[in-house]
Amino acid sequence: MQGIDIFDMRPLDASRKGTLEDPIIVPSAGDEQYAGCTGYPVDSHQVNWLTVSRERPIERCLECGNVVKMNYIGPEEDPHSHDHDHDHGHHHPPHVEPKTFADYVKPEYWYR
Ligand SMILES: [Zn+2]
Repeated sequence: MQGIDIFDMRPLDASRKGTLEDPIIVPSAGDEQYAGCTGYPVDSHQVNWLTVSRERPIERCLECGNVVKMNYIGPEEDPHSHDHDHDHGHHHPPHVEPKTFADYVKPEYWYR
């Protein structure tokens, strides 16, 4: 079962503005998740839908600069996982964060 469950969207945490260092966490059990940003304070701008995914978990609102990050909470089995090389000498435990946040704050990630 795959796809975006539109009806499972929860309102964003609008109590603060997400930053690269401390993004708004968007829990998702799917491969992709929409996050509707209306700025901070809430409704500062028209709703801007940010699409975050497991492959690109961090997105920044172009309207207000709010940063959201998808936190995958679903099962580990994923058709996309097969392209990882599992015979590289080190094995990761199944429930570890796939990447550290530092991997996503590289300048080339934002400016391209
Ligand atoms: Zn925004």
